[in-house]
Amino acid sequence: ASGYNLMRDPRHNKGTAFTEKERDAHYLRGLLPPAIFTQELQEKRLMHNLRQFEVPLQRYMAMMDLQERNERLFYKLLIDNVEELLPVVYTPTVGEACQKYGSIFRRPQGLYISLKEKGKILEVLKNWPERNIQVIVVTDGERILGLGDLGCQGMGIPVGKLSLYTALGGIRPSACLPITIDVGTNNEKLLNDEFYIGLKQRRATGQEYAELLEEFMTAVKQNYGEKVLVQFEDFANHNAFDLLEKYTRSHLVFNDDIQGTASVVLAGLIAALKLVGGTLADHKFLFLGAGEAGTGIAELIALEISKQTKAPVEETRKKIWLVDSKGLIVSSRKESLQHFKKPWAHDHEPVKNLLDAVKAIKPTVLIGSSGAGRTFTKEVVEAMASFNEKPLILALSNPTSQSECTAEEAYTWSQGRAIFASGSPFDPVEYNGTLMVPGQANNAYIFPGFGLGLIMSGAIRVHDDLLLAACKFHPNTIILI
Ligand code: NAP
Ligand code: MN
Repeated sequence: ASGYNLMRDPRHNKGTAFTEKERDAHYLRGLLPPAIFTQELQEKRLMHNLRQFEVPLQRYMAMMDLQERNERLFYKLLIDNVEELLPVVYTPTVGEACQKYGSIFRRPQGLYISLKEKGKILEVLKNWPERNIQVIVVTDGERILGLGDLGCQGMGIPVGKLSLYTALGGIRPSACLPITIDVGTNNEKLLNDEFYIGLKQRRATGQEYAELLEEFMTAVKQNYGEKVLVQFEDFANHNAFDLLEKYTRSHLVFNDDIQGTASVVLAGLIAALKLVGGTLADHKFLFLGAGEAGTGIAELIALEISKQTKAPVEETRKKIWLVDSKGLIVSSRKESLQHFKKPWAHDHEPVKNLLDAVKAIKPTVLIGSSGAGRTFTKEVVEAMASFNEKPLILALSNPTSQSECTAEEAYTWSQGRAIFASGSPFDPVEYNGTLMVPGQANNAYIFPGFGLGLIMSGAIRVHDDLLLAACKFHPNTIILI
């Protein structure tokens, strides 16, 4: 019977690649067809099969099935075909998978900790079969990519992120733990969906929320020790900043949307300076979107300029402007702003929309971190191109449907002059006979390496200096832009 069980254990199963010797040693004779495939041949066959699927979600499901059947082969495929498979297991397809998670759900894939587990979270952690956990990616599903509140179905995100920790960071799969915290959802569609897999109630907030998170964070440290890395992912900003502020003092944590994104975008900007010239301090930045990604990136840019020029960060912030859903963030709005926006309220008359803000501020760099698709309109890009020889345009919002503009739009509307990167990948675009290759600016290019560094160094806290170091020494800065 042990051979049969071995084949059902994804961590050890090799399928048709079990050798003659292994088939004898592990009671596998007769349980497999006689042909013995090399892993390379298995890979070739699977890639061929995957490419037959026209619908991206079918590719996603095939990859998830493979992960559950034969883990080694799953990672071999991912490592050897990163460019082709990243958009399948990660953005944009993972977004659709989360939206439809209820109907495509087959296996749990990670730990679910809901309000029902209150008071028992430590026991729940002990139910997970692996003891030696090094990285946890945790979400509460409230802001999944730019798709909003997907509740418990956000599980696709920690699962996808951790598969990159292994494929790109080299961390053992068994040391990775995806967790979804379910405190309910405010998504009416899900609440009325008979296939919804989460708690059918509105989100817990305030003290009830804080207590569950506190119990979780305490249990994590108690069960896995001081050195377990906890990556916060896709929390809504009304919790994300507070959780980070609170647990950064007591745990090894970082928020990927705030800090990972900041590091990877700064890396991209430093790389792009080679194309546009000047130092960071010579540039002027305008953001659409003043949430986690926007203010996180803005703060790291200000910090880096401050280090380079020795000017206080209060001064260097003045080179950076942000627009939110109410318009340009200016000092007259200061009283009513959320705390993370206040440092960006500079003196300026009110400006209602992005186009007017672009014309008023005349930025050299335009960054989209709004989650609102198609907001870099023709007029906006044309304005950027009217006063910049090489306008730097980053449309960071995910998935592709939420991208502030497409690569084609950025190139066409700037007459091929824009330097463009996006959060979700775009194919190269031919413009006037030249092939323009857009960059991808996504925290996936930094968190696996950043996390690996934290684990290897035995760090117990994350500091901004680590984020700055990561973006300077990161080899992917070359690929990025
Ligand atoms: P968030 O904290 O909710 O912030 C969103 C911000 O955008 C808010 O300031 C919001 O304004 C503003 N906004 C929304 N719609 C707008 C519109 N139509 N016009 C102007 N401003 C608008 O979200 P986040 O965590 O920063 O994420 C935002 C997006 O960035 C998501 O699509 C996410 O996928 C993407 N992201 C990408 C990466 C990457 O690596 N490429 C990493 C992280 C996040 P109010 O404050 O007024 O509501
Ligand atoms: Mn995220």
